Amino acid sequence: MNCLVLFRRRVFLIVTIFLISICNLSAAEHPPGYVELIDLPITVRVDTTDADIKAVYDLWRKFLSSRPDSAIDASLWNKKELKRYGDPYAARSWIYNSEQIIKSFPPLLLSIEKEGKFYAIRTLYYSEGLEEPYKSSNPWAMQTMYAKKVKIKIKNENEEKRMDALPQGKRVGYVAPTPDSLRKKKDSAEYRLFDPLHVITDSWDKRRMGPIDYHFPHDYFFDRSVGLRMTKFIKAVRKKYDLSKVSPIEFYITRNQDEIAAAVGLNFILGSSAGRSNTPNAQVFSSLASEWYPHEITHLLFRDYKPHFILNEGIATYLGGSMNRPFDSLVVDLAQFFDSNDSITFQQILDSPYLEGSTAIYYTVGAVLCKMAYQQDRAEKVKELLSSGVADDELYATIERVLHINEQDVTAAIRQKTKAYADR
Ligand SMILES: [Zn+2]
Repeated sequence: MNCLVLFRRRVFLIVTIFLISICNLSAAEHPPGYVELIDLPITVRVDTTDADIKAVYDLWRKFLSSRPDSAIDASLWNKKELKRYGDPYAARSWIYNSEQIIKSFPPLLLSIEKEGKFYAIRTLYYSEGLEEPYKSSNPWAMQTMYAKKVKIKIKNENEEKRMDALPQGKRVGYVAPTPDSLRKKKDSAEYRLFDPLHVITDSWDKRRMGPIDYHFPHDYFFDRSVGLRMTKFIKAVRKKYDLSKVSPIEFYITRNQDEIAAAVGLNFILGSSAGRSNTPNAQVFSSLASEWYPHEITHLLFRDYKPHFILNEGIATYLGGSMNRPFDSLVVDLAQFFDSNDSITFQQILDSPYLEGSTAIYYTVGAVLCKMAYQQDRAEKVKELLSSGVADDELYATIERVLHINEQDVTAAIRQKTKAYADR
């Protein structure tokens, strides 16, 4: 799961409220499987009378129409990245963190320009005429994507007939065969999308250490001793929790939040981030100018578990800390927070991941629950806890089953354990 470490509370609230309001306005009824091409206006720089630019424009419009927040339309991507990665677009959940992004910030195609072997597609996500308080949450993003012509094997006639027989929803982007298309030669060339991450970082330096492939800009000084410490952390956690191997891990090191966003093709993004992980792709992105990022690495190591969000962040914070601070230091702050907020409940914390302007309280409460499980019966108990479902009621049921604490006693138990862990 991706993790916004320093996603500012104000931005989060304003964008969330804005998206909800747009969502209510634009709810429309469509039959299942209905795919409608969205409007994609262009600037005068986009010359669609050029056949190649028109082909790239059509490809990009299909992508934007294909629910990019939640669906991967394989017909639009190059085969190599589709085969290698769980998700061919590393920044997907960062830019499209809601179905509403494209409706709320309608894309404007700024340019399609030749860059070496590729065409670079630049898009602005912007909403016209917003008023306060939403005015300052605009634009959402400026994005670069790449497209290149690749050889395509035309499906044989039987395959096309089989596809044609499928219900519409199962063949997104598929065009029904015509007598002409059936007469096409066996091989043809068409434009396909390429993840900007690999195009942009292709010239970066690389260093393999254990299961990690580090990628970093040429002028970054790589510290081998810190990389070695990271590999030892992976080995120790895998051994203690008997976790399956994740290899290779792609670890991208940058030095600030603009550099990390630019590496994935986001020239600007409203929701900035100090670090993220993309678990299906086994990728870590850091803006902290370091080979060390145990929090995001922990997310990768536990990627087979899909627990409640507070436990997902809890295990990463318990083992890997958060915001460059270890759990032992974060839990002291949590104890002080509880001391000065004696009526706040566990449920209120569950409802507010961004308390006091950061995620620290939410993450550390999750970490306290993980430590409580570890102290009861070591790694096995923690893994049982992480088998909770994602809903609040499933979380409470799991806490009761694994930690033997009733729903009404959870707040008091967490307060008491937080104090004990902080006093050590
Ligand atoms: Zn996290």
